Amino acid sequence: MILMAYSSYALQRMIDMCYQYSCKWRFEYNASKCAVIVFNKQRSNQPKQSWSLGSDVITETSTYTHLGLLCDEYMSSSILVDEAIKKLRGTLGSILSSGLTPGEINPLTLKKIYCSVVIPKAFYGAQLWSNCSKADVKGLEIAHRKSLKQIATLSPYCNTIFTLVLLDMDFAEDLMDFYKLQFLGQLCRLSPNLLAKQVFVQRLVRHITYGDVMMGYIPDICRLTHKYKIGHFIDTFISTGRFPGKSAWGHILKTSVKRLNQRQRESHLDEQCETNISLSLKHSNSDSIWTALKKIPKYSKYCYNAIRILGYSVSEQFVSACKRCGHFSNSHATHAFWLCAKTSVTRKELICKLYDAMDGETFRTLIRSPLLTQCRQIALFSTQVENGMFVNVHLLTTLHKLMYQNQ
Ligand SMILES: [Zn+2]
Repeated sequence: MILMAYSSYALQRMIDMCYQYSCKWRFEYNASKCAVIVFNKQRSNQPKQSWSLGSDVITETSTYTHLGLLCDEYMSSSILVDEAIKKLRGTLGSILSSGLTPGEINPLTLKKIYCSVVIPKAFYGAQLWSNCSKADVKGLEIAHRKSLKQIATLSPYCNTIFTLVLLDMDFAEDLMDFYKLQFLGQLCRLSPNLLAKQVFVQRLVRHITYGDVMMGYIPDICRLTHKYKIGHFIDTFISTGRFPGKSAWGHILKTSVKRLNQRQRESHLDEQCETNISLSLKHSNSDSIWTALKKIPKYSKYCYNAIRILGYSVSEQFVSACKRCGHFSNSHATHAFWLCAKTSVTRKELICKLYDAMDGETFRTLIRSPLLTQCRQIALFSTQVENGMFVNVHLLTTLHKLMYQNQ
């Protein structure tokens, strides 16, 4: 139970009323489990005020957990976000260490587990995370992207948008937006007799119609409905009380939020790569790399290798030493593909196979493009899927040999 009051006198009066009611009906409140949080406290050296519940004392505290959500005196969500980061890493870590090793289990399966177990646990109460600082959101994004790269067995330095498009996942911030808007639908559909609905409507009207400055959930959803261009639903709700039903609102969120974010990620990746790479990584159809891999799991290590090459080719490059020849290069994939002295035999084999598999024009365009682009095009070509099967399996094995086997 929560009591809220604007003054200490009013709060003490409410506590007294509760105490008198409990005496009348012969039940007891446990004062040691009760706490008082003072918001907007004035900075002064005044001692903490004491609060009484009958003859017991209620202590004043700076944080309190209610329904699993920690609330602090500054109404900040930093502690909640920190907790979410720990849960995200911890839950995924314990799932993966229980035998579901990435690289052995299909990333689609791991993604399903991640979305149905890890995300709901970590994002519990995300609807009410407000006043998040940029550092909070960044911390959550880092934990989220690290988890996804782990699932897809990609390097931690791999391009994040590539990872998101590859697994068809949202940014952590987009997930938060989605949960908040979903919660908006639940609030708007509540029965008008409920106190929660009345408080919500009153705050919403005060903020939108009278421009009241406030913090918390209401300004957040106003910002989000404006961002995703669905503000007219709020306007209609205020003027007529009508709001889309559960399935209609779900459909609106899917098209206006999920698909919009998806298209933005894909176009961002295509711009970065100056090619239509997102189309090759699409997962909406049955011809995706992961579904083909499900049918022939024996090719998994070759397929993961090709995906990693794709990841290298769209990510920032770092100087590293070749494990085979010892030479330093600014791109691991480019060196192994075209420059390493120890891979010359496999390189010739790859070129012959490419010449046989590609039509003349495609092959000529390929060899005229920059070295890193060539790596990407070859990885894309070798992971090409048609009718749910890999078309160029023989290239996948050669790529693996080129990248990892000693010549
Ligand atoms: Zn080398």
